Amino acid sequence: MTDPNGRVALVIAAHPDDGDFGCAGYTAQLAAKGWSVQFLVCTNGAKGTSDRDMPRERLIALRREEQREACRRMGAKDVTFLDNEDGELVYDRRFLEQLVRAIRVVRPHTVLTHDPTDIIIRNSFINHPDHRATGTAALDAIYPTARDHLNFPEHLLEGIEPHKVAEVLLWGTNQPNFDVDITADLDTKIHALTAHVTQFPDRSGFMAFVRENSKAEDGRYLERFRRIELEF
Ligand SMILES: [Zn+2]
Repeated sequence: MTDPNGRVALVIAAHPDDGDFGCAGYTAQLAAKGWSVQFLVCTNGAKGTSDRDMPRERLIALRREEQREACRRMGAKDVTFLDNEDGELVYDRRFLEQLVRAIRVVRPHTVLTHDPTDIIIRNSFINHPDHRATGTAALDAIYPTARDHLNFPEHLLEGIEPHKVAEVLLWGTNQPNFDVDITADLDTKIHALTAHVTQFPDRSGFMAFVRENSKAEDGRYLERFRRIELEF
């Protein structure tokens, strides 16, 4: 993996567009600094439409292409899609193995993912069950599962080594302790989000929504994370 700073970030998102909402401003900053930013999208996005005439396979293909375009717009290097069913994601050994495998292959310094808490953002959102399953499985994959060679030891036979993640950033959190000023990156974030044409057909209304939701009391635009620095 070529990376001038040796720094890799892995975004683990339940659906296409979640990672863009959660951290496209910060990942754009990291990419501009030379980090290798990679996305892992855990479901196929097949429930993401109100159009009853939209064929399922077409929606899945469209949403993948939208996520690829969004990643290009924010400077992320690569995106991988797992084929779990949208809306039906459960945390089991199979899903945990998928995340452990991704962490061991990508070998990120930083993982960015969903806060798995059920009620989030000032009691204003029920966190989608797929987000909760993803956040919980990602945390368990990071510690201790990906770190210890006796977990999924079959990976060693494939030449996939254990990996220790140094930092975790959770978006959609009730307990932010790490604010990133994305004022200069807000247009990039909106540009990435508007690649998801199937999700946000009302572009101007959507842009206003994103601006309003990112704005701090002092007028800056922020992405807010719960940050965990892992010592072990
Ligand atoms: Zn989602």
